[in-house]
Amino acid sequence: MKITQAALEQVSAHASDGYPHEVCGILIRANGAGVVSEARRVRNIMEDEERTRDPALLSFIRERFPALDNLGERARDRYLMHPRDQMRIQRECDDRGLEIVGYYHSHPDHPARASVTDSEGSWASTFYLIVSCVQGNVVDWKAFVAERDGAALQPESVEVV
Ligand SMILES: [Zn+2]
Repeated sequence: MKITQAALEQVSAHASDGYPHEVCGILIRANGAGVVSEARRVRNIMEDEERTRDPALLSFIRERFPALDNLGERARDRYLMHPRDQMRIQRECDDRGLEIVGYYHSHPDHPARASVTDSEGSWASTFYLIVSCVQGNVVDWKAFVAERDGAALQPESVEVV
């Protein structure tokens, strides 16, 4: 995966801003180009107050994490991208000739390793960038890909350009 320094800095800034919660977002590149040039923030609905008033969001969470307790406290170790943010960004990309090629999220006070949960939620042919954010500072980042949907995420080399 190739990513611009600017896009990587956008991811790092988001991870620091959102600490101690997991933050998440979308990696974008110009259609046909080989470089991720933009990172867009998406609300993590695990930390979104709105979900407590929106049954559709709650059932969306339940579908992804059927057995999870204490939803209000899980934004420290779980993320789920807000579906409305995703749709809005997808539409913008379509309009601007951009392409969504992956996703990023932070691991507050944990290494930039793909968790079992991360692998279970992965899609094939998609980049996953994980940044480790310790005490609010990004100290490491790694990229991963899955061979097929839900397969174990495998390390992917990253070139910052
Ligand atoms: Zn993770």
